[in-house]
Amino acid sequence: MNKQITMHKLFVVILMLALTSAAYSSEWVVRDAEIMGTTVHTEVWHQDESIAQQVADLVIQTMHEVNQSMSPYIETSELSLVNKNAVSEVLPVTDELYAVIDRALHYSQMTNGAFDVTFASVGYLYDYRNAVRPTKSDIQQQLEGVNYKHIVLDANRKTIRFKQPQVRIDLGGIAKGYAVDLAISRAQEHGVERIFVSAGGDTRILGDREGRPWVIGIRHPLDREKVIAKIPLVNEALSTSGDYERYFDEDGVRYHHIIDPKTGDSARKVHSVTILGPTAMDTDALSTSVFVLGAREGLELLESLEGIEGIIIDNEANLLFSSGLQNIE
Ligand code: AMP
Ligand code: MG
Repeated sequence: MNKQITMHKLFVVILMLALTSAAYSSEWVVRDAEIMGTTVHTEVWHQDESIAQQVADLVIQTMHEVNQSMSPYIETSELSLVNKNAVSEVLPVTDELYAVIDRALHYSQMTNGAFDVTFASVGYLYDYRNAVRPTKSDIQQQLEGVNYKHIVLDANRKTIRFKQPQVRIDLGGIAKGYAVDLAISRAQEHGVERIFVSAGGDTRILGDREGRPWVIGIRHPLDREKVIAKIPLVNEALSTSGDYERYFDEDGVRYHHIIDPKTGDSARKVHSVTILGPTAMDTDALSTSVFVLGAREGLELLESLEGIEGIIIDNEANLLFSSGLQNIE
């Protein structure tokens, strides 16, 4: 079983090309940190290395900030306050939280509820670390609260309200992407044009790597030694959702962290989804969305979206590409 997990983990890898060039005198600045329950990694280049250092710190700080406001596990986070109070009152929220929830609802509408941040009322019944899962009747009870239509946003007043008492929001499928985008835009404000930022499965790249694009490699699902596609990336975001990130197996069935809001059970049509697009908030939400939709509906959705491509490994280990990636070597 372990071997299989490692294999899945390596489906998609960022191939860090160690290129050196005399034309680039200053060094890339690298930082790693554990934030939002995941590994944050950044690489920054600027001709003035002290600016690169400063921006690398800013990236890490940005991730902490977003975590402090959007984590459902931090009692004082803005999201926790919304979860606690939006049932009984119309709550004003910050522009940031409003924008992320608004975008989440956009994807809920687009996917007919496959992406739904209110999955949380069922989601919190699972404890993957301790192999705990809800009974069918627990799920049925909590499913009442799972419906993005229970969330009411007021764009003028920037307020939120829940129409149903069981509603809880978890932004785990979109907030990391948002944080990556925010870090990138702050880096740009500091004049940085070459940067790599990733938070777990969500990555965004600005510029090239010393004259060459960054390259991601897609591993063969059954033979991890084999890289079957290499995709060059410049100015792009990339998100992967997989059933190997947080899970436990019981009687041959995998219970993992991506929940089908219609059933309250883990989504099992695919093993992994990688989405490419311009911004990380969108690729993040779409990787989770397509994971729930499955290969057929997921590819249909991707084909309808401008500038978005995807790679799916379905539950029979078939590798499927959206049409813009068909000609990848
Ligand atoms: P990702 O790794 O980006 O696919 O996100 C997975 C995370 O998204 C989970 O850990 C949950 O926090 C959240 N999530 C799970 N199921 C859904 C869903 N159906 N819609 C929106 N978010 C979800
Ligand atoms: Mg995602």
